[in-house]
Amino acid sequence: MSAHIIDGKAIAATLRAKVAEQTTALPYRPGLAVVLVGDNPASATYVRSKDRAANACGIAARTIHLPADTTEARLLAEIHGLNADPAVDGILVQLPLPSQIDAQAVLEAVDPAKDVDGFHPLNVGLLAAGRPSLVPCTPLGIMRLLEAAGTALTGARAVVLGRSAIVGRPTAALLLAANATVTVAHSRTTDLPAECRRASILVAAVGRPRMVRGDSIAPGAIVIDVGINRLADGSLVGDVAYDEAVERAGAITPVPGGVGPMTIACLLENTLRAAIRRRGGASDGGKRCAT
Ligand code: NDP
Repeated sequence: MSAHIIDGKAIAATLRAKVAEQTTALPYRPGLAVVLVGDNPASATYVRSKDRAANACGIAARTIHLPADTTEARLLAEIHGLNADPAVDGILVQLPLPSQIDAQAVLEAVDPAKDVDGFHPLNVGLLAAGRPSLVPCTPLGIMRLLEAAGTALTGARAVVLGRSAIVGRPTAALLLAANATVTVAHSRTTDLPAECRRASILVAAVGRPRMVRGDSIAPGAIVIDVGINRLADGSLVGDVAYDEAVERAGAITPVPGGVGPMTIACLLENTLRAAIRRRGGASDGGKRCAT
């Protein structure tokens, strides 16, 4: 049996279209500020993609590009300015930051109501407490992929490989909030293949090319491969051995074209959500929502 391929590109396009439709119905343009410090080429590419996707959806996105030698105090002043700017609904600080800046101090300076990356400790705490508010974009994208694939989450046995703050932990918390029974595995887990085989939903976020082999996958399992690994020949592969897994899984995300496109689409969803919470939705003439 060959698995159903979960088409992240198409699902992300549908989500972007939904965000665009809802944005157009608002009596104001939601605002997104993306802060980039320095000239890391990968970061610059991500920021351009975010800016382009946001503006295409009717979100007023702007990039604040600061030089690589920016001090922490200067960056914090910029964040405070954006917090106070009524036209800005979402603030994203592109990571990594140069070494002279304490990234945690910067993330904590972002107004939690504008924290569209979901990295502020208040939003992290709400998610851990089972009250998700603004949640990190990649984990949100994973949940949207599972929804789109029609996956039953209540009572499902989910295994998340990886416990990072940006992917593994928040994904586990979202799955738990959706009533799955969740195991989080990591580099100290004993007998990882056995843990994987227990999963009806397997999320791999480890950053090791093709680490999860086909025989670690339960027949019919839903496999979400978050990994993005570039091989020596320039090709991109996930954390799952796709050619093997596709013969065992019930459904699987490809790499590229799976989780990747969802991350930016969910950033737009978060920006829209943050805007509606601050300024209200289409039906109330732009007044503040109760939530
Ligand atoms: P991190 O390096 O922060 O975390 C990796 C996690 O995997 C850690 O918890 C680590 O365990 C665990 N791990 C590492 N090696 C093993 C192993 N041999 N066996 C079991 N567990 C292991 O990575 P991220 O969470 O940031 O990213 C993971 C992957 O997802 C990367 O490939 C990244 O490129 C990709 N990614 C993709 C995104 C997208 O938009 N599609 C967005 C973000 C990330 P321990 O904690 O014990 O060290």
